[in-house]
Amino acid sequence: MSQSKINIQNGSCPVYKKCGGCQLQNLSYEEQLRFKQNTVVRLLKSFGRVEPIIGMDDPYHYRNKVQAAFFTDRKGKIKSGVYQSGTHRIVSVDDCRIEDKLADRIIVAVRKLLPSFRLTTFNEDTHKGFLRHVLVKRGFATGEVMVVLVTGTPVFPSKNNFVKALREQFPEITTVIRNINPYNTNLVLGERQNVLFGKGYIEDILCGCRFRISPKSFYQINPVQTEVLYGKAIEFAGLRGSETVLDTYCGIGTIGIIAAKHGAGQVLGVELNGEAVRDAIQNAKANALKNIRFFKGDAGDFVQAAADEKEKPDVVFMDPPRAGSTEKFLSALIKMNPKTVVYVSCNPETLARDLDYLTNHSRYKVRKIQPVDMFPHTKHVETVVLMSRGG
Ligand code: SAH
Repeated sequence: MSQSKINIQNGSCPVYKKCGGCQLQNLSYEEQLRFKQNTVVRLLKSFGRVEPIIGMDDPYHYRNKVQAAFFTDRKGKIKSGVYQSGTHRIVSVDDCRIEDKLADRIIVAVRKLLPSFRLTTFNEDTHKGFLRHVLVKRGFATGEVMVVLVTGTPVFPSKNNFVKALREQFPEITTVIRNINPYNTNLVLGERQNVLFGKGYIEDILCGCRFRISPKSFYQINPVQTEVLYGKAIEFAGLRGSETVLDTYCGIGTIGIIAAKHGAGQVLGVELNGEAVRDAIQNAKANALKNIRFFKGDAGDFVQAAADEKEKPDVVFMDPPRAGSTEKFLSALIKMNPKTVVYVSCNPETLARDLDYLTNHSRYKVRKIQPVDMFPHTKHVETVVLMSRGG
């Protein structure tokens, strides 16, 4: 593992303190990795040995998804940037060291185009004005680029010309979507959206499989490290060719589809977000897989129903959001009694809590703990854990 020696010096990012997104930027990359390793060891050492964290060779501009909030300052100047960590204040950012460079350039270009189209920014207090956020997603492997223009109000004058002007500057853009979000909410995207150009989604390739990604579907934001992460998850599953696999909290079906390609006999996936489930179903088709089915619903409800039906999967992948899993899910998992459980976690604290529950209420033991650095310069750390029964 070769690791970058480059250090983003404290303060060298002009908004390091104001933004708060890169909490570890004052540390060299090696120090960041040591910090994350220590965090995982502290939280998980009672379950077993923690493998050395896998870092990135080039830990910059790794984010394939970038979103910016838009506002107009007191002098009437249009600004765009990120919300200061934990607040509703926007910090102006034009080029960020962890975001995709092209995505950042597109956001600046949208901002510069607004006045010539007499388009304004949305004001959350008065509920007047137009543009609220811009979301850009880029498939690093395919080069496809999605731009989502999130507007507070529904009317979009000269939208075709606006899209044309943007595409003239960035022929890389493969789809443009307009999303309407008039609500008082922290969520970036509203319910209604329509495609202004292209197919309405982008595709990307991970671990040799092709995936469609819609505006609202979850997709890992660091594709280089996602291949490392999924590689470990598949290795831990130890698939031989006939296993029944459950992919829970499956998003657009990435882990289950890669497992199916690696010879799983049958795969079932469950996910709460309807748009992601639709992507997952299309993804199974696009990868010519017939032995895989996806369900929309709560993972806890699904696993409980499967346990009641006396379903006996061999391998269960679980990849819950930061809040971790639930007792309902974990108790049903124990009842189903799969040979192998692979837990992919983006929060070692809830991971420790859930492993505690599993090891105290069943004969499952933790066999391997592998941290992966998916989010360089931030405090976040991803971990894959292999569990199996007894012995
Ligand atoms: N395994 C996927 C997604 C992981 S992110 C991947 O690697 O890309 C976690 C996912 O869990 C998100 O897609 C989120 O929509 C979903 N989710 C959140 N709560 C859920 C619940 N209660 N039941 C099922 N899915 C849930």
